[in-house]
Amino acid sequence: RAVANYGTAAAVEDPIKPSVSIDHTKLLINGKFVDSASGKTFPTLDPRTGEVITHVAEGDREDINRAVVAARKAFDEGPWPKMTAYERSLTLLRFADLLEKNAEKLAKLETWDNGKPYEQALNVEVPMCVRLIRYYAGWADKIHGLTVQADGPHHVQTLHEPIGVCGQIIPWNFPLLMFVWKVGPALATGNTIVLKTAEQTPLSANLAAKLLLDAGLPDGVLNVISGYGPTAGAALASHMDVDKLAFTGSTETGKIVLGLAAQSNLKPVTLELGGKSPFIVMDDADIDQAVELAHFALFFNQGQCCCAGSRTFVHEKVYDEFVAKATARALKRTVGDPFKAGIEQGPQIDTEQFNKVLSYIKSGNESGATLETGGNRIGSKGYFVEPTVFSNVLDDMLIAKDEIFGPVQSVLKFKDLDEVIRRSNATHYGLAAGVFTKNIHTANTLVRALRAGTVWVNCFDVFDAAIPFGGYKMSGIGREKGIYSLYNYLQVKAVVEPLHNPAWL
Ligand code: NAD
Repeated sequence: RAVANYGTAAAVEDPIKPSVSIDHTKLLINGKFVDSASGKTFPTLDPRTGEVITHVAEGDREDINRAVVAARKAFDEGPWPKMTAYERSLTLLRFADLLEKNAEKLAKLETWDNGKPYEQALNVEVPMCVRLIRYYAGWADKIHGLTVQADGPHHVQTLHEPIGVCGQIIPWNFPLLMFVWKVGPALATGNTIVLKTAEQTPLSANLAAKLLLDAGLPDGVLNVISGYGPTAGAALASHMDVDKLAFTGSTETGKIVLGLAAQSNLKPVTLELGGKSPFIVMDDADIDQAVELAHFALFFNQGQCCCAGSRTFVHEKVYDEFVAKATARALKRTVGDPFKAGIEQGPQIDTEQFNKVLSYIKSGNESGATLETGGNRIGSKGYFVEPTVFSNVLDDMLIAKDEIFGPVQSVLKFKDLDEVIRRSNATHYGLAAGVFTKNIHTANTLVRALRAGTVWVNCFDVFDAAIPFGGYKMSGIGREKGIYSLYNYLQVKAVVEPLHNPAWL
């Protein structure tokens, strides 16, 4: 096993204190930040140390109720669904400007709460949020129904109307990005929202919500509840007055919320769930480039991406060279305090995820995969894990089947195209896939054969606002981003009118 010298992660023994104030720790209900009905709070922790950053209000069923009542009133009686679409568009554009203006503050909160590199939060994720909100601002006044050429004496048109009160539940891996993916299309189409943040990462979404109020969003249109899944989350999913539910998180929880929606009022549900995405390296590939891209596809965001390229399939002709180079690249990965410049990898989000990742590494060792590098915790504080590479991974090993959600690369060997297609598709997941080849025939064969919602060819994790994202099979239901997301938040009403005065008039 090749061993890196992380200097026992000295940087995290003395964590950099971010210069940012935390101004919003309460629940946003009807335009005001308020305490929870129970008065309870819960701590949000710094993943670098496991220490408390601050306490936030703990929302539960009663708070979800208050928020739904506010959202219902804002939808039924408030100005938001009735104002011109152009005015809604302008509100979103002002919000995007405020996100841009507050980029540093947002990125600092994001890194503090989540542990991701500050440079990534500031230079990649906040700009993606700004772009996405501007994209949906552009759609607000371009929602069109149809005129139907009915066969008969009737004029028929369809109206695309907002659904109403939308419940949205988001995860901790991209707290700010998931917030805008959810609220962007829902607001552009004139809905009102009750959103529950992940209990691990409530801070950045609260600030973003405040910026939306500053941008002129009317009271009650967006309500944000921090709290736990089985309490606040379940109350939202099963609420009788919530008209639509959008969820991002694990497949296991996705099944629960779908069940709650079905058992309550049959609200339509969109789900964005887990994955075990293949990243396929053909023998004609430039190996250095393939190694770099496969490394990025897996290790980005501490490996905590639903679409992570977590099964690296490499052609047998280039397998040994690839494994040697992938190991060398993992050894070079800079791990440490995510506030430090040049750091590529921060800590995992919490003890639970940290232990889960380490237990998968143990399982990889026990099942006979070859540990090329990594495998241990770094330092004695926080949730840092060594960048880990396993070779000789077989399809039936747990590390090749389960979503690890950590910095653990599993490299599998294949012989030919038919075999890699069959093995890539032999999973209940179908979120994404990566293909690396110089041959257009090979690329297009794979693109059509792979059962996944996104196939990235000679690239990975390209996430423009206009590109739809979502899963085949148990990776989800529906698509987010792009034009597709708008339809999650619209109802179609058919309007039928006679062409001539009817006889009974
Ligand atoms: P999770 O699915 O439990 O949590 C996601 C969101 O759902 C959170 O806001 C949580 O509070 C809420 N939730 C949890 N239980 C709920 C319930 N019964 N009813 C309603 N809402 C509920 O995910 P997690 O426990 O934080 O992470 C577990 C695993 O999920 C990870 O290891 C990873 O594999 C996967 N995950 C996937 C994504 C993704 O983007 N696809 C994101 C985060 C985690």
